[in-house]
Amino acid sequence: MMNFAGNGYIKLMCRYIIVEMDHVPYRVKKILPLLVLCSFILTTGFSPIDQVQNRYETKGKIPEPVYSMRHNEKKIKVCYLTFDDGPSESSEKIMGLLNQYHAKATFFLLGKHILKFPEVVRNMKREDFTIGLHGVSHDYKKLYSSEKSVVEDMIDDQNITMEVTGLRTPFIRTPYGSYPFMKESYRRAVVNHGFIMWDWNVDSYDWRYRDWRFVQQTIKQIKKVEKEGQVPVLLLHDRTYTLRHIESLLLYLQQHKYQMKGIDASMNPLQFPLKKQ
Ligand SMILES: [Zn+2]
Repeated sequence: MMNFAGNGYIKLMCRYIIVEMDHVPYRVKKILPLLVLCSFILTTGFSPIDQVQNRYETKGKIPEPVYSMRHNEKKIKVCYLTFDDGPSESSEKIMGLLNQYHAKATFFLLGKHILKFPEVVRNMKREDFTIGLHGVSHDYKKLYSSEKSVVEDMIDDQNITMEVTGLRTPFIRTPYGSYPFMKESYRRAVVNHGFIMWDWNVDSYDWRYRDWRFVQQTIKQIKKVEKEGQVPVLLLHDRTYTLRHIESLLLYLQQHKYQMKGIDASMNPLQFPLKKQ
């Protein structure tokens, strides 16, 4: 309960505001509701950045990984497109094509590339693509030398992403995938730091073929995982050679009624099984 003195103070303040309002110019009065709303937003800590961060809300619990991602009962055909090593000079065009085919995707970004193309990353966020981390070094000897080195590499990338977009993303893809470098203690360390690690079950080999053959290779693998009742999670690269041929892959997925999506924090992340000791 508010005491008498407090009550009196509020009454006094209200009277003061009512009296003073007469002297407030009309233009200011017109925008007064907006000013009140802005001060509410500032005082309650609600901001557009929080809104975006909520998209990645893990509710303090990181979902358990799965080694095989199954379709749900409704049998809606879904696939997850993921692009590593970006952003690059091709990102905008890749995003343009994805938009054209109503496709969402996840981009696992490298720290130094984010610094080179910050506006591209902001556009990724604006256009509602999922942003994930791929570290800063991409040097497997350095990166996997200890649990600490992996975690620090991802935290550095997370901070860069945060500075550029205002977004703290928990998603990571460790360079070359989690097998065989991410031992059990490494996996535990990244989870303890709030990271959600993702691998894939369809490797496009775009980096190897660098031409139309990667599309052929990808479709072959999609059919295989589909036969096993699995949801395809595609590994692609944010590169010019991928951009050159990706449209035929998007066309295939569209014609085969796939919903192309980005990952989210409520999902059980698909990971490679742990290396048997
Ligand atoms: Zn990579």
